[in-house]
Amino acid sequence: MRIEDKLYLIGYNIDEEESHLGISDPNECKRCQGRPCTYVCPAGVYSYDDEEEKLSINYDACVECGTCRIVCSYITWRYPRGGFGVQYKFG
Ligand code: SF4
Ligand code: SF4
Repeated sequence: MRIEDKLYLIGYNIDEEESHLGISDPNECKRCQGRPCTYVCPAGVYSYDDEEEKLSINYDACVECGTCRIVCSYITWRYPRGGFGVQYKFG
């Protein structure tokens, strides 16, 4: 099964008002070497627009694995507010 198919099986209760992910200094993204956040995230949450020189965070797709917080100290990571976020079938 492809990872895209697995992700499709996950349920989410999306917090429309508040992102649980952020960047402490967006200017760092402009000079970041390789932008690892854009390829380590299994859910493709981070993408970089070269024309706008801006990092986008599609936080509602986050599966809360914590990988991005390891590869970048500028990412402000926390769990979503209570009752929101990913909902796994068996846990
Ligand atoms: S969030 Fe971190 S890893 Fe991603 S582009 Fe910005 S500085 Fe680089
Ligand atoms: S916690 Fe995992 S799924 Fe969520 S944004 Fe970071 S790497 Fe992607």
